[in-house]
Amino acid sequence: MPYVYAFDHKHRRPPMEYKDLLGGKGANLAEMTSVLKLPVPGGFTISTDACRAYLAGGWPAGLDDEIAAQVAKLEDQMGRKLGDPDDPLLVSVRSGAKFSMPGMMDTVLNLGLNDKSVKGLAASTGDERFAYDSYRRFISMYGRIVLDIDGALFEHPFEEAKKSAGVSNDAELTASALKALCTEYKAVVKSATGKAFPQDPIKQLRGAVEAVFSSWNGARAIAYRVRERISHDLGTAVNVQAMVFGNRDDNSGTGVGFTRNAATGENKPYGDFLVNAQGEDVVAGIRNTEDLDALKKHFPAIHGELLDIFARLERHYQDMCDTEFTIEQGKLWMLQTRIGKRTGAAALRMAVDMTKGSGKGDKRWKISKAEALGRVTADHLDQVLHPQLTGDFTAIAKGLAASPGAAVGKVYFTADEAEAAAARGEDVILVRNETSPEDVHGMMVSKGILTSRGGLVSHAAVVARGWGTPAVVGAESVKISGKQFTAGNATVKEGDVISIDGSSGEVIVGAVELKNAEPPAEFNTILGWADQIRRGKLGVRANADTGEDATVARELGAEGIGLCRTEHMFLAPDRLPVVRKMILASTPDEENEALAELLDVQRADFTEVLSAMDGLPVTVRLLDPPLHEFLPSIEELHIKQATSGLSSEEQKLLAAAETWAEHNPMIGTRGVRLGVIKPKLYGMQVRALLEAAKNLRKQGKNPIVEVMIPLTVTREELALARGWVQEEIDRANKGVKNPPNVTIGTMIETPRAAVRADEIAEVSDFFSFGTNDLTQMTFGFSRDDVESRMMPAYLEQGLLKRNPFETIDQSGVGELVKLGAERGRATDKKLKLGVCGEHGGDPESIALFYEAGLDYVSCSPFRVPIARLAAAQAVVGASTSTTK
Ligand code: PEP
Ligand code: MG
Repeated sequence: MPYVYAFDHKHRRPPMEYKDLLGGKGANLAEMTSVLKLPVPGGFTISTDACRAYLAGGWPAGLDDEIAAQVAKLEDQMGRKLGDPDDPLLVSVRSGAKFSMPGMMDTVLNLGLNDKSVKGLAASTGDERFAYDSYRRFISMYGRIVLDIDGALFEHPFEEAKKSAGVSNDAELTASALKALCTEYKAVVKSATGKAFPQDPIKQLRGAVEAVFSSWNGARAIAYRVRERISHDLGTAVNVQAMVFGNRDDNSGTGVGFTRNAATGENKPYGDFLVNAQGEDVVAGIRNTEDLDALKKHFPAIHGELLDIFARLERHYQDMCDTEFTIEQGKLWMLQTRIGKRTGAAALRMAVDMTKGSGKGDKRWKISKAEALGRVTADHLDQVLHPQLTGDFTAIAKGLAASPGAAVGKVYFTADEAEAAAARGEDVILVRNETSPEDVHGMMVSKGILTSRGGLVSHAAVVARGWGTPAVVGAESVKISGKQFTAGNATVKEGDVISIDGSSGEVIVGAVELKNAEPPAEFNTILGWADQIRRGKLGVRANADTGEDATVARELGAEGIGLCRTEHMFLAPDRLPVVRKMILASTPDEENEALAELLDVQRADFTEVLSAMDGLPVTVRLLDPPLHEFLPSIEELHIKQATSGLSSEEQKLLAAAETWAEHNPMIGTRGVRLGVIKPKLYGMQVRALLEAAKNLRKQGKNPIVEVMIPLTVTREELALARGWVQEEIDRANKGVKNPPNVTIGTMIETPRAAVRADEIAEVSDFFSFGTNDLTQMTFGFSRDDVESRMMPAYLEQGLLKRNPFETIDQSGVGELVKLGAERGRATDKKLKLGVCGEHGGDPESIALFYEAGLDYVSCSPFRVPIARLAAAQAVVGASTSTTK
């Protein structure tokens, strides 16, 4: 296999299918040249294979020869030679990975200029100033990007040159000033690198290619890949392309163009353009650009040609494209094109519009509804469902993007202070090291939540996501001390305003402007199509614990509740004292009294939830967390004991907290184990649930109840727990004609449960995979600790490709899900299967769950639309891959 391919190379399949090999940019250049026959300056692509070979073992044997052959071909094609002292060919060198990566090496332009060819350029263009301006740009660009020289070393002489010439505008520097600058720049290179600026264009080219290859492993690129979840193994391609000049004269220019409006989705081409300029001038924003109407005025014929090309591009790619173009002395050149990035609102509008058809006559084209679904991503939906930050800002810290959307508010460091400030009418951002059930009242009133510790399935993340409250968690650089925090050089005190972006994890000092969430009309159209496609194949439920959450979830399209975490009901400020009373009870009577009080409030809670989900299934999970979570912190009580002293009630709480404390509570007395030692508690919960259902039925409603036992590991455990539940059901159904069918199932949250799913299925009506705990237990990664401290290093070093708490670990935890599903269904063909870990709202994980044969996914209410879309995409993906 060759390492280098000319843009007009004849591939066996359309070049666009070779993005792995040619990178996105290279594949598009080849497609434009060889398929679309657009006016593209000639060039070639050095493949990602070459990059991977270079990174593994140095400059690949034979690559020099291949590049030399391609350069010779390009020279023939262009009728000019690299380094020619009379009329030189100049090239650009650009990186181009499979996925666009702004974190990588920038472009090197004007490569091929040296002390001799610059004279040739001056002669052939009759423009000495232009030639030396190009040369000085090349030396500084090459110096900065390829030779790693500090850019300030070039800036400084440039500013000096302008000062001594008495001019403020770059364009006013004369040819001789620029010539002198070139000499100075070469001296900068010599003193910074100890070597003269390379004069041999082939050596220049090799240097630039090596720099692109190496930039793959640069810190910026790695950070970008971690953020965008791009694999570190792909490598980048390098594109070498003949230069054309938009800055030759006033009959030249350059611009970027979109075939439709990328911000609004309107079906109208959009562009930015500059007369007599190079590409970087458009992007850098130094000069004010003009729009496509201005292009029409300056260059009417070219404007027509460009719009024609736009139409061809859209028809060919069947999508909105963005392009870069240059006009050189009246001739239009297309420098690159790709499928254009777009806002969420634009993505939805374009997807729907394109199903209606575009173009005229035999040039008409349209996409199918299934294709339209593929044009919308989870990020697009998040953008229209949650407020976003707008404008420019600089983040002082970055944590995990735990719950999407942006929020602005005053900082408070405790739940009590947050609550008091909210009561005064302030917008609050609660900032904590981490949150616990005790902070819920403060979290509830906050516009946003920021924690310095904890991961994507930590308390703060799960609770915030459930409520749709923006949250950034695990921002390690945020150091809280008393009533202030520092992050880098910034200090933020109580009451100061910050902004947080729960979609990117950024934290900003001050109030950044917010753009409201505005789902456009196309939002429901697209999700309606998604529902049609996935109906009967993969359901979508919500994790919701209150009537309010259930109502929101239903409005967002949930088809039931897959997880009602009853512990969240125990945490409300009026419940906590009763729960504590139950824990502290020293006699059966005291315990029964507390349970009776809880029965009343639980019944009321269940009534609300079941009523909001009337006619749809509601899976209620019996209490899961270790009891100490409902007790105050031992540390705080000790401090109080040492300072103001403890009341007798507090002394009892401290004793209980010490009794219930465990070294590893996550793998201690929780889940069904709690039921084993406190069976009356589970009995009370089931009774409350059944009574609520009965009352609703009396009102003519149709509650559908599923009781779920958490953290089961053996058949015997579940059989025992099932017995308690059944006892309550039998009691409730006594004398009832046509008693309702209440199913009893379990969560599969441990590797053992997945492996022994066959046995557990003997006593279970359904399984729900709890992939948060299953991930924790399979990796042995603490779900509350590893993400902020360890995970970044693991992702940067490629030890893990993804954060497994965000996207299911396909080959480990995912295999356990598949195994559990398979073994469970081997026992009971009809066993109902779902998932309720956070992965239930993650598109890639949803694809695996569909493949594993699950009946539904369940996720936090605000993720329901994403899950509906992703479920349909999984169904479409599966059906296309089976028809290939
Ligand atoms: C799980 O473990 O995946 C789960 C849904 O339960 P929780 O997050 O409440 O432990
Ligand atoms: Mg769990």
